[in-house]
Amino acid sequence: MKEINLYQCEVCGTNYADEEKALECEAFHIAVGSVIQFKYNAKGMGLESKYPHAVVVRMEDGKDLIFKR
Ligand SMILES: [Zn+2]
Repeated sequence: MKEINLYQCEVCGTNYADEEKALECEAFHIAVGSVIQFKYNAKGMGLESKYPHAVVVRMEDGKDLIFKR
């Protein structure tokens, strides 16, 4: 039997045989900085507009991204 050691990126869960690659992977990911805006559907008080349909977040590198459901 062979024992195999793996290193896992704690951000995305990818496994690597090489510890350096796992550390590189962790450093590659950009974290969410803050929420900039919530977007609601203009449909009154129904379920479609109760929760935001999109959220704009500013990533720690300054890039703004829109996440939609
Ligand atoms: Zn990763």
